Amino acid sequence: MTYLFHRSLNNTPPAIVGGLGINLWDSAGNTYIDASGGAAVSCLGHGHPAVIAAIKKQVDEIAYAHTGFFTSEPAEKLAANLVQSAPNGLNHVLLVSGGSEAVEAAIKMARQYYIEKGYPQRYNIIARKQSYHGNTLGALATGGNIPRRENFLPLLIQTHHIDPCFYFRYSYDQEDEACYAERAARSLENKILELGPETVMAFVAETVVGATSGAVPAVLDYFKKIREICDRYGILLILDEVMCGMGRTGYQWAFEAEGIQPDICTIAKGLGGGYQPIGAVIATDEIYDAMKLGSGSFQHGHTYMAHPTAAAAALAVQETIQRENLLSAVKERGDYFAQMLRNSLEDLDCVGDIRGRGLLWGVELVQNKKDGNRPFSPSVNLATKLKKTAFKNGLIIYPNSGTINGRDGDHILLAPPFIISHNEIDNVIAILKNSIKETMMDIDNV
Ligand code: PMP
Repeated sequence: MTYLFHRSLNNTPPAIVGGLGINLWDSAGNTYIDASGGAAVSCLGHGHPAVIAAIKKQVDEIAYAHTGFFTSEPAEKLAANLVQSAPNGLNHVLLVSGGSEAVEAAIKMARQYYIEKGYPQRYNIIARKQSYHGNTLGALATGGNIPRRENFLPLLIQTHHIDPCFYFRYSYDQEDEACYAERAARSLENKILELGPETVMAFVAETVVGATSGAVPAVLDYFKKIREICDRYGILLILDEVMCGMGRTGYQWAFEAEGIQPDICTIAKGLGGGYQPIGAVIATDEIYDAMKLGSGSFQHGHTYMAHPTAAAAALAVQETIQRENLLSAVKERGDYFAQMLRNSLEDLDCVGDIRGRGLLWGVELVQNKKDGNRPFSPSVNLATKLKKTAFKNGLIIYPNSGTINGRDGDHILLAPPFIISHNEIDNVIAILKNSIKETMMDIDNV
């Protein structure tokens, strides 16, 4: 008997009781390798002593105080730490409790910015198909992933979706990456012109698309073109780095690899590494000043904003990453991870694409790569089956099953903790390969 809402209302998952490094164990004594860091959260792995000590110290001093009355040292230090690692101009941090909350706040910030500037007619949001920006109403409406939206249609907020930048699935035959980048970016301009530039507020995109497309980085120069288009029409660029930010791609901010910067950026998962629920929005002087000189506040508040204990945990996570130089470790281990994934899975006909950046990798499953990369029917539920098989084999991977439009097939996401060793990587890939083979045999036998 359970009184708790679980992900599946017909199934109670095992109870987690412990974890250390990249390993977890449940109450029945089963052990698991956390190769997806939950959902790309646990960047430092589990049981990190420096983070635990910081949380204990903060709880001893003061666990919580409301931002309507107080600021706190850990929140101030965390904001300063984030600003120091961000490019010039991104100088203002709002601390919230998670990714969806960060996206909601980012959208409202863009809206308030235009109201303060005297352009209230700018309210349209453009985002991309197959994206995920969270599960609260505004964030859900912004995301373009069909399975997560369809049960709730019509959504309360109208948004507009253009094609993603997803070369593997959306490029034409023989189209080179440069032409594709141009075409994919032009779809933003077309949509802006269709809606009327004076009505568009923001373009929202994941810098590296995570949960619903499987670690898809944009092709070279796509984001430069996007930035130019946003600037041409005075539209804010909001990059959602809830999953791909905070070192996951080997860069503190994933957009650094694109040679551009956004007006607003959201982060969450790797910020607190799962030790406490926390997310953040970072915004430019231009946006902050419009509100400061206008109404004098950002009209937005949550009870747990800038939570001192959550901020202390996140500060310890970020300081550990910096002290231990883990960004270069992500780059080096990420290269090894990619090379081993490619070497090992190359001979499987069902592996159509392996893509990613840093320690964020996606493996896309297809019927037969020699036969045109056709995805499996969504009714096979392949990625979820693979997740279950891998879990039984002691490996945690994050699945996403395809949709009827036939373009987003099944994939699994790998996002191990930054501390993973080469031996551990070898082990993850060996279990993954066996689990893929086992799952394919099971579906062949149905
Ligand atoms: N944006 C992105 C890019 C995400 O990956 C996620 C979570 N998967 C969210 C927003 C929502 O974050 P949360 O689950 O913390 O609300």
